[in-house]
Amino acid sequence: MARHPSHDILFEPVKIGPVTARNRFYQVPHCNGMGYRDPSALAEMRGIKAEGGWAVVCTEQVEMHYSSDITPFIELRLWDDRDIPALAKMADKIHAQGSLAGIELAYNGMNGSNLYSREVPMGPASLPVATFTYDPVQTRRMDKTDIVNIRKWHLQAVHRAKRAGFDLIYVYAAHALGFLHHFLSRRYNDRTDEYGGSLENRIRLLREITEDSKEAVGDTCAIPVRISVDELIGEGGLYKEEVEDMIGLMADLPDLWDVTLAGWENDSQTSRFAEEGVQEPFISNIRRLTSKPVVGVGRYTSVDRMASLVRKGVLDLIGAARPSIADPFLPNKLSEGRLDDIRECIGCNICVSGDFTQSPLRCTQNPTMGEEWRKGWHPERIKAKASDKSILIIGAGPAGLEAAHALGKRGYDVALAEATTELGGRVAQEAKLPGLAAWIRVRDYRDMQLRQLPNVQIYFDSRLTAGNALEFGFPRILLATGATWRRDGVGHHHTRPIAIAEGMEVLSPSDIMQGCLPAGKRVLVWDDDHYYMGGVMAELLAERGYDTIYATPASEASTWTRNTMEQHFIQRRMLEKGVSIKSFKVISHISRDHVTLSCAFTGREERVEVDAVILITARLPNDSLRLALEARSEEFADSGIESVTTIGDALAPATIAHAVYAGHRYAEELDAPPLPDGTLPFRREIAQLLNA
Ligand code: ADP
Ligand code: SF4
Repeated sequence: MARHPSHDILFEPVKIGPVTARNRFYQVPHCNGMGYRDPSALAEMRGIKAEGGWAVVCTEQVEMHYSSDITPFIELRLWDDRDIPALAKMADKIHAQGSLAGIELAYNGMNGSNLYSREVPMGPASLPVATFTYDPVQTRRMDKTDIVNIRKWHLQAVHRAKRAGFDLIYVYAAHALGFLHHFLSRRYNDRTDEYGGSLENRIRLLREITEDSKEAVGDTCAIPVRISVDELIGEGGLYKEEVEDMIGLMADLPDLWDVTLAGWENDSQTSRFAEEGVQEPFISNIRRLTSKPVVGVGRYTSVDRMASLVRKGVLDLIGAARPSIADPFLPNKLSEGRLDDIRECIGCNICVSGDFTQSPLRCTQNPTMGEEWRKGWHPERIKAKASDKSILIIGAGPAGLEAAHALGKRGYDVALAEATTELGGRVAQEAKLPGLAAWIRVRDYRDMQLRQLPNVQIYFDSRLTAGNALEFGFPRILLATGATWRRDGVGHHHTRPIAIAEGMEVLSPSDIMQGCLPAGKRVLVWDDDHYYMGGVMAELLAERGYDTIYATPASEASTWTRNTMEQHFIQRRMLEKGVSIKSFKVISHISRDHVTLSCAFTGREERVEVDAVILITARLPNDSLRLALEARSEEFADSGIESVTTIGDALAPATIAHAVYAGHRYAEELDAPPLPDGTLPFRREIAQLLNA
């Protein structure tokens, strides 16, 4: 398969200062929850991006000096020479694949409370720190000595970055993360000296640091500047016209402009709230202001769109974080014209949740992400089968589909039985809910792959019983039958069913997804699940004209989505759609014609008259088949059954990412020799003890 000539433009080399990118695919800096704790895992992950064809592969933000740390977030550090080897390992992995290595030097300033170093954070102004968690800490206002010092520290970090082998050394002034952004934005900079006030003054420090860096290493390394074109809060913060003027004033000083939106939540919006290319209206003029190349992101997965961005002169390099996580081999696949093989990002931000939960990043679409070193998994390659024993997979949701796909790639004969007439399980249903259409890509990618695997047979309309499974005689049976939302109120708060009187209509998300809508007009959605489903249900019902009350024991709607940076967007949308939100509310009981809510703190009760209650609390595994099979385990040997395994939501309901991972793990580990007792199923890196 050859690529279409109109896409050739994406494979032209691009000169970035003294270095040259071999094509236009550029993995911009992105966090990953591994950072300084898991350096080898991180190096391997970045190396695989380079192997997949990304011409430039960058680090996440790298703390350049101990006096500004972003604890509890786990990023990289370049505090002294001892940090160089971990970074050099990454640069080496990237170079080994012929790509350029970029490093994003960061000094968080007022974005870090310095919980680790206990230094006093500093910024352009005396203000409360601007962290995600309202830390009770303020910054001190930087004086001239601080400015001299910070320039010196940046320069030291630049020299260290060069010694570590990096080809692009960033000056980071974006996302409202870091002192340079804070100096640029009127929102944080109220200074009256030569570093505050006018545009020229506010960019002074950015200019000085860029000049320092260029002077130090500019003949060998490129110095990109990363800046945010808009903070989306009007003229109180950075806005497009003002930032265009700033860029105009420094036009050709950096070797590359990396343009973004601020804060991070606006730049990395989920598909629920933003289409591909949400940045485009903000960055379309930048290319005219400079002769230097421009890179920008937009969760781009459409190759035509990418090529047209270059052709129209909007971007020189196609930046990507999430599309490179979902498919580290995206550039190679495009280069070979294998468009159907691309594992498109669904825009769910589960990857981002790794950073917010200080755990190694994971991806809904790419189950190997973060496991490249820990488990030796590769996004494209998987070891050949180790036996000729076939597998019957029951259930074609994310878990069953991924298992079928990965087992099929290993060469096993697989039969995939699905009760309904479509693939996808929960994804097929949830993708029909407001804002979640892109999630269908979880199914579509695997559907496309399975079509290329003659050793995987799919059987629709096949709700299997234990009798069927025994009859068919497959040596391995994999149960991936999913889960169903419960209707008894059991969840985080109530661990026993709540009292529900007859007469009140009580529905679950499963009912609603199957088309069963409340009969009356007034509905109460009670969310004790706290991820997206409660908010989505409230949104759907409000859209359909119901008087919708959303109540939750938490302080806010869909509170876990803080980890996907969506909470603010979700609550705003719910309010805009007329949903009335009641926080800190627990359902005490459900009567025939009303619900009694109680205050989570005082227990004080309140009566809410509604016609229906939608309970979003927890799910029950669909385990009837498993139980029926277990009851007949004595017949396994005669039927030739060696193993029956349950995975995904059928075992323990969780996210779609968990289910995809479970399917992949089953496939990777099938026929592997058992691990010696006490061995961990993954590698980990342990800090060396000092003799002090
Ligand atoms: P997961 O997220 O774990 O993959 P899903 O709920 O998305 O789980 O998918 C489960 C799939 O299994 C659904 O498509 C469902 O129709 C199918 N299924 C459930 N029970 C059976 C059965 N007995 N036989 C065949 N398919 C089944
Ligand atoms: Fe995209 Fe979701 Fe994967 Fe992140 S976790 S890369 S948003 S599919």
